[in-house]
Amino acid sequence: MNKSELIKSSLKETKERRKTQTPTVYQLKLQNLNQRDVELLDRLFLEAKWLTNYVVSDIQNRLTPDTWKLKEVEVKVKDNFEKREITHLGSQIKQSIVERIKDNLEGLSESKKKGYKVGKLHFKSEVNSLVLKQYGNTYTIDFKTNKVHIQGIKKEFRVLGLHQIPDNAEVTKGELIKKPSGYYLYVTTFLNAEPDKIKTRKGKVKERYVERFDKPIGIDFGIKDQLTLSNSMKINYEVKESKRLKRLQKQLARKKGYRKGEVKSKNFFKSLNKSKREYGKLSNIKKDIENRVFAFIKSYEKVYMQDENIKGWKSGLFGRNIQHTSIGGITSRLKNNLETLLLLDRFLPTTQTCSNCGHKQKISLSDRVFKCELCGFEIDRDWNSARDMVLFGEKTPLKNLPEDFWEATPVEREATARILESNPYIRVSYISVKQEALSLN
Ligand SMILES: [Zn+2]
Repeated sequence: MNKSELIKSSLKETKERRKTQTPTVYQLKLQNLNQRDVELLDRLFLEAKWLTNYVVSDIQNRLTPDTWKLKEVEVKVKDNFEKREITHLGSQIKQSIVERIKDNLEGLSESKKKGYKVGKLHFKSEVNSLVLKQYGNTYTIDFKTNKVHIQGIKKEFRVLGLHQIPDNAEVTKGELIKKPSGYYLYVTTFLNAEPDKIKTRKGKVKERYVERFDKPIGIDFGIKDQLTLSNSMKINYEVKESKRLKRLQKQLARKKGYRKGEVKSKNFFKSLNKSKREYGKLSNIKKDIENRVFAFIKSYEKVYMQDENIKGWKSGLFGRNIQHTSIGGITSRLKNNLETLLLLDRFLPTTQTCSNCGHKQKISLSDRVFKCELCGFEIDRDWNSARDMVLFGEKTPLKNLPEDFWEATPVEREATARILESNPYIRVSYISVKQEALSLN
């Protein structure tokens, strides 16, 4: 077998193996950093920014199969270009940076196909995340000394939190993240068994999840898409009356005792029980969905939603849909049990305000896309609302947001896969985040 065949077959094997495995992401904090360590780490992020912006500023000529080999780039300093050396970034990290640019470009062209107005890729004012794609190569962990080695860097970093990772976990990619609170390594692992179970105080066994997303999230509840999150995620689920339930109900209607005044026959009760059991199955599925959505949303530092008149929906045009999707179940669950929930006034104009520039305008009920008259920003209607909730709630100025503020991070995606998508009735999709590039300058 040649090398590419070898890679192909091992990819296939990996894919097979993953089917029975559970991904978990662990957050490790880099510890005991001195001034020089911090400078070293910052240098990595800085070089990543240089490389990104160098490529983005002339994609046609600079995005080549050899881009990752670059050892020197130009950066714009005021009106001049100056040379900068890439001295610390390892080759695989550089490859990941280039891949990320390619992904973003693909996203752009997809948006274009869908008819969105598309700008070009923006320069990054900051790069705060580096993908370490291959464990054992791009980075390694010494579990005995609690140290992490990153490709291209001699110094090893002590990390906090390795004890969380079970011995039998298969460690895969990592992501180095810079936050105001410090430097972190997110490690993705795969476990053959079910995720760890923990016992609650009431003695119930629950899945444990390790994520805490230290960012706020806004949730828009809708008819077309049940939940749209400010991080570009859409969560949909539907539990329809099963055919079996319909059949059972028809059977029941024919039994003696169904109609008022009739003596209830033995067969009637038999049939009634069958219906009840089937109905119970469906409501268990609904409960499971609610539990999962709740568990996922609970991971966020703060949750914003608008106190909307959901009761009003029930009697209206969409009544039946709402029942199938049990949105009422989830909203009341969140309202009653979520400590991190911040309820916003329902009259805040979240559907009418541009989440890019703050301009307020009318939007009709049927418009699925919000098109800002002022700045030209085009965005999914529900996503715009969800973002506005965070902006209104946090009173965040529209400028100075990190570039990936509205994206689902790898950690969030991983948690989504594990907590939500393992239920076949839940569908999760991501709005093409590259719409961020739609905002015009
Ligand atoms: Zn605008």
